[in-house]
Order: sequence, then C-alpha cells, then structure tokens
Amino acid sequence: MRLFYTSLLTASLAALPCVASAADISTAQPVPYFPQSDYRPDISPVPELLGHQFGERISEPAAISRFFEQLASRYPQQVKLVHYGKSWQGRPLFYAVIGSSSNISQLADIEAGMRKLAEPASLSEPEAKQLIASLPASVWIAGSLHGNEISPADAAMALAYHLLADQSALTQQILSNTLVYIDPLQNPDGHHRFVSRYYATVGLEHSPDRLSAEQNEPWPNGRTNHYLFDMNRDWISLTQPETASRVKALQQMYPLLFVDSHEMGGDMGYYFSPEAEPYNPHIQASQRQVLNKVGQNNAKWFDELGYHYFTREIFDAFYPGYGASWPLYYGSVSMTYEMASARGHHYRMQDGQILTFADGIQRNFVAFKATLETASQQASTLLQNFYQYRKTAAAQGEKDGLRSFIFAAERDLAGHQKLMGVLTQHGIKVEQAQQAFRACGKDYQAGSYLIRTNQPSYHLMRTLLDETVPMDKAFLEKQEQRRANNLPDQIYDVTAWSLPLMYNLEMQRCNQAPRVNTTVVGPDTLIAGSVSNPDARYGFVVPWGDMAAARFLSAALQQGLTLRSSDLPFTHQNGQRYPAGTLVLSRADNPADLTSKVQQLAQQSGALVQGLDNSWVTEGPNFGSFNVPAVPKINVAMLWDEPTNPLSAGSARFVLERGIGYPVTAIRPAQLRSADLSRYQVLILPATGAGSYQQALGSVGSENLRQFVQRGGVLITLGNATSYLLEGDKPLLSSKREYQVSEQEKPASEARVPGRVLAEYREFEQMLKPYQADPDWVPGFIANAVVDQNHWLTAGIAEQVRSLYVGNHIYQPLRINDGRNVVNFAAPKDLLAGGFVWEENRQQIAHKPLVMVQSHGRGQVIAFTQEPNFRAYVDGMHLLYINAVFRGAANAGALR
Ligand SMILES: [Zn+2]
Repeated sequence: MRLFYTSLLTASLAALPCVASAADISTAQPVPYFPQSDYRPDISPVPELLGHQFGERISEPAAISRFFEQLASRYPQQVKLVHYGKSWQGRPLFYAVIGSSSNISQLADIEAGMRKLAEPASLSEPEAKQLIASLPASVWIAGSLHGNEISPADAAMALAYHLLADQSALTQQILSNTLVYIDPLQNPDGHHRFVSRYYATVGLEHSPDRLSAEQNEPWPNGRTNHYLFDMNRDWISLTQPETASRVKALQQMYPLLFVDSHEMGGDMGYYFSPEAEPYNPHIQASQRQVLNKVGQNNAKWFDELGYHYFTREIFDAFYPGYGASWPLYYGSVSMTYEMASARGHHYRMQDGQILTFADGIQRNFVAFKATLETASQQASTLLQNFYQYRKTAAAQGEKDGLRSFIFAAERDLAGHQKLMGVLTQHGIKVEQAQQAFRACGKDYQAGSYLIRTNQPSYHLMRTLLDETVPMDKAFLEKQEQRRANNLPDQIYDVTAWSLPLMYNLEMQRCNQAPRVNTTVVGPDTLIAGSVSNPDARYGFVVPWGDMAAARFLSAALQQGLTLRSSDLPFTHQNGQRYPAGTLVLSRADNPADLTSKVQQLAQQSGALVQGLDNSWVTEGPNFGSFNVPAVPKINVAMLWDEPTNPLSAGSARFVLERGIGYPVTAIRPAQLRSADLSRYQVLILPATGAGSYQQALGSVGSENLRQFVQRGGVLITLGNATSYLLEGDKPLLSSKREYQVSEQEKPASEARVPGRVLAEYREFEQMLKPYQADPDWVPGFIANAVVDQNHWLTAGIAEQVRSLYVGNHIYQPLRINDGRNVVNFAAPKDLLAGGFVWEENRQQIAHKPLVMVQSHGRGQVIAFTQEPNFRAYVDGMHLLYINAVFRGAANAGALR
C-alpha cells in the first residue's frame, strides 16, 4: 500500500482557502480510518463539533476544548470530562474518560477500586482477586506535550470520536472492559504559540518546502510551555503546574497503560515500543513484556495498513523524567509514540513524497486503537501485574537491606520542605519525626524526615533518591567503543537526577525502620514562616541561606523596605551566630508599620525572621559597617530571543520570577545592541542555542555591555554564554577555554615531513587523533564543587554544592590579579557525585572554575560555566544564582 494513504476530503478542501492544493496529496478515506468500522448514522458530524474535518486544519486549543465539551454534553453516558489544572497562561488542562455506559456510570467506584488495588498492604488476597476480576483495564492517551508536535492532539480527538461512533465488534469489545482516558493537549500554551504563528505565515497556499516560513518556527518554538520548559524532562521535580497537576490526576486512577504521543523529524516514519537500551534497572521484567506485546500488536495493524514503523533504536527508558517514564514507577506500563511531523499542513520529504498533517492523525489514531485492543485483550494481566508490582515493590526494600532514608534536616529547612513536598506529590509517603531518635548509629533531632522503604512507590523512591542509577555495563562498553571511534554516544539524556544531590541536602540510608512518633508530610512545598520577638526595639534579621530568605528579600524590596546584608558572618550579643548574607532591617530605616509588614512577608515567603532589641555584635561587622552594604531595589534585565537557548532563558527567568517572585525585563538583541541600559543594574546572558552573541550583538552591542559594566552594572553569564566574555580585543573575562588534553603534535606546515616508523598499531591510532579537539561531550552528571566561603558571592552557601555538568566547556581558572574563582569543581576523586562521566573529562574538569567573578570599573562580570538553573531542578544552585543578582548589585559601585 502507498505510504501516504490517507488524506482530506476534496470537497472540504475547496471550501477553505487555507489548505493545500489538492494536486499534491492523495484523496482516500476521511480521517480517521480503521478497517471494519461501522459508524452510527446518528452520530454528530465532525465539523459540527470541531468546526472542520479532522486533518483539514490544525486545531487550536480552544477548538479542542470545545470539541470535548460537545462530546461530553451530547454523549454524557459514555463520556466524562474532567478539568485537572490550568496552564501558566490560564488554558484548561483536562481529560475525557470514554467507556461503556455501565463503566462510566460507575466511574467513581472503579477509580476508588484502582486506588485500593494500589495499596496492597490494606487488602486481603481475596479482596485483591475480587478487584482484579471486576475492574476494567485503563489506557491514558496523552497528546502534544511538545506543543509543536501537532498531530497527537487532533488524533486524540479522532480517537474519541471513533470510539463513540463505531459500532464494530472490536470497539464494543474494547469499551466493555477498558476505560479510555484522553488527555489531548498537555501543553496548550506551546500549541497555541505554534498554531497562531503557523497560520500567520501562510500565503496563497501552504508550502511543504522545508525552507519555507511555515516550516521554520521563530524563537521560541512551540515545543516548550509558557516559561520555555521542556515538560518532557519535568516529571522528576514537577516544577511546572502542567506536570504537577497531571501527576496528581494520574494518582486518582493509576491508568494501566500510558501512551505519550509525540512527533519527530518529518522523514522518520513512526516509532513505538519497545524502547531503546539502556533501560532504567528499576523497570521490572513484567513491564518490559507488556511493552513488547503492545509493540507487536501495533505492528500487526501497521503491517495491515502499510505504514512503516521502527522500534528500539532511539528513545530510551533510562531517564525517569519523561512522560513516557514516570507512570512506569507507579506500576503502569508507559511508552512514547513518535510520528514523523508534517509541522504544518504538509511537508515534502527527502524522497519527494508529501507527508500530510492528516497522515499524522491517521497513524497516531491507528497506534492508539491498536493499544486499546491490547489493553482489552490483556485486561486481567495488566491488573494482576499492577497489583503484583506494588506488592513486591513494598517488600523489596527489606530484601535490599534498605529500610529507610533519613534526612537530619539541620540546615536549609526551606529546601527540605520543598523536597519532601515534591516527594509527597509523587505518591511517596514522607514522615517527620516528632521527637529525637537514634537509628543506624546516629542521633536525629525532632523535625528530621524519614522515608520508609516498605511502600508501593519503592522503585520511584530509589530512582529519585539514589545518587546513581547504574547503566547497563554492556551498553557503557559499547559507548566507550563508539567514543574511541569518534562516534557520538547513544546516551539520550543526563545520567543523573538524584533529588537530594540536586537540592544539596544530606541523606542517610539505614537498614532499620526507626521507631519514633511521626506526622505524615503533606504536598506543600513552602515552609510556614515566623517572626520571633515581633516588638523588638532595634529591628529584624533574616538568616541567609535558603530560598525562603530569598523570597523575603524579593518581596521586601518590592514593598520599598530598606535592607542591608552582611558580607561576613557575625555573632550577636544574644549569643547567636548568623551566616554571611543575613538581612538586616532596622526600625530607623523603615516605616512605622515594619512589624506588620515583616509578619506578612514572613508568612508569604516562609522566612524565619528574628527580632533584635539592639544591634550590638560581639564578633564580625556591626550593621553600620561597609561590610554590611545596602541591598538596593534593582532592575533586572535578561537577553531574550535568538540566539539564546530557550531552555536557559526560560529557566533563568522562571527561577527569579516564580522561585522568588522578582520581575525580570526580557530584552531582544536588536534593542540591547544600542539601548540605554542605565536603568538596569543587572543583565543576564542565558546560554546560547544556535548562533552566537558576537553575531547577534556585534561590536556595538559588545561595547554597550562593556560600558554597562564599567558604569557599575553586573553582567551574569550562564553556561556556554561565558565563552562570549572571552572574545574580542578587550575580553571581559580573563579566563580561556581549554581544548582536550592531548599529546598530539601541531601539524607541520610543510607538505613534506621526515619519515617515521610506526612500530606498533597504538602509534598509528595516536596519529589519527585530532590536534586541538574539543573535550568529549558529557551527556550530564552531577558534579561536586567546592565553595570559597570568604567571598560575598557565596554568602549563605554550603561548603560544597552540586552542579549538573553537561557538554564540553572547560575553563582555566582566573589569575589572582584578574579575578576570583569562587566555586571550583572538586578534585578528580571527589568530582563525581552522581551519574556517569568519561574518565578523561573527569580528570580535566577537576579543580576548574564553576563560578568566576571579575571586576571592571565600578561593575563586574559573574560567570557560571555551567547552567545553574538547569531545568530549574538543581535547587542547590539557585541561591548562588540569586546571590549573583542581588549581592552582585549590592557589591557593585553603580552611582544612583
Ligand atoms: Zn516530543
């Protein structure tokens, strides 16, 4: 059968000016098509529900919402619509449940039954058997998490329509014992961005040409959400409301199969499970068996309809933060499907054939329907597997000699609260000790956190908490061979994501389950703030060192309060020692209602504020010292648009705006080149994607930045943006970027060279190595870094931080007369905190700078050589970034 079989109805084509010329594409069945379908004659026509036929137009988020609202109101016995959250821009997140009228009428009981089955400890075997025999299977179809991957959302609608219209035996069989959850549009904001800009580029006809404007989205493309996050990496720390609300929704009914439907390059065919190696070792054999079964049944229908597909070669199941991974860790079977994207109405492939948007809808629809068939056929196996998974998971910790994880929580209470809240949102039960206790040879105070391993979420717990999740040895050996042959590695994403490491919190493992009175922690990520001694005569201090204090600072500045911040630690007459960075608010500097303002700020920020009756300090600087500078209310700008990397720009903005509530002005390069920057005190250059700052800003822009710094501005570079500071005649940073360590000699400039004997093959191999190569690319590991405790930039930061290290940028340290290397990667033996790094890189990265500061005129540059806001989930780096912004400005000499 021809590759591109499906298409549009010619009749409807003629009716709309904005569709492809019909000559390019085949005209066959309307979408969706499934063999032996038998549609009810009384079903509402699609255009009545959607405004157009499937495939005729890329549906906007509002049209998708309307379509499902129509279905739910016209067919209430078979469809239930549930709103589960809102996107950043306020668009609804929802799913529709479709099933037999009998199952839909008992939906609440069925979902309660699934929640019971998910807790095997509270069930007897006969009760479990009875549930397994009576509950239906369930499949969750999730579409368009990447908003510019367009066909899944429309395919999800086509599936819903088909299930309601089709009277065939297969569909009736599916609906009799399977609930179908359809979450058509996981990223409505990104999808809206794509659709609106796509239609804005279309002329007389839609161009399938890969050079056309239709086929090349402007920055930022529709992949990400409003804050430019790749939400297909966010299922670990749940930073985005879309992810967090979905994770909550899934735990209401634990769907047994989960399909995350995506699109890939337009020439690539179709991909479904089983996934590529390496698998995360916490995935169970029974889950892999089902992945195979699902793939085989999809393949049966793809063969019958003549659709090409592939499996296993890319898209691994190692990183747990994909949508297609997370449900695996509650005991479901989840998978990614990837359709070649027309990225518009149609796309000319390399072989000249035209791939249409309708083709994408049709193939996804067939994969979905085939998956439903598998679920229906395997219903009791899936239920049984789910129950067994959760039961054996709860017992596995004891077999592994691991009964609890304990967090002493002696510092960074706000960070601990956030982590425990996130783990609770994941469905992991976290307890907080109400009294002191002793476990595994160590004393713990009341307030310590405890996570017992005898939980059905054991595998999720391990994959989120363990420092390293081991990769298959054979796989790693293969990667070393590829590297030796100068081939790229096949590691798809970062190799480490341990939350305690990324939050920089200390965790102990214990082979005992401590006996201690506890309370169960809730899902809140914010600690309750407080003010001690509210009537204090002198004023207030806020000990520095966590995000709650940073939120307090942000809100206090915006309310016009006057704050100072100590560059050095100090001891007050009250006997308490305060860390560097501690905020000081005196009554003399502030309005009369300071107490009530401070109380309100403590409550909203979670800060632990202390009243002081006097300012007498017994060690360290007094509050009137030049070592306790005022923290000015500053205007923060950042570079936005090409050539910045949208992920870096988005997270840099997110951590300030949503992490601590401080607004940022995003400025495009065209304005920045010659803009008057004097209104700004801080300017952030995010990492770059394609393109460079030299090109985007030119010499005029460079000079503008230089003058900004000279006048007292703080210029902060993130990740690879740091290399921009090394360029030009008058570089702003006196570091250099390193080549790979190599013994290769400089190639001779002459055409003829003296003869040489290669006595061994090793010498031949040595000759093949390039001269001045980049270090090998590192897919991502968690690195230990050592913090200079005596610099204002590191106030309140622990002696050791953990940074993600991704890529191959390695910088030389600054000489002492040029600047300071305030945070440096640890020694080779201590460098690796979690994950995997090539040996040569480990040696070369050690001791090199992670954060550098160099002064110019009245201002300074602060260079992060890695991304401190990586996915906004390396929480332990955020305060360092915030220090760079606020303490950087406080320690620069801008004239006001
Ligand atoms: Zn995708």
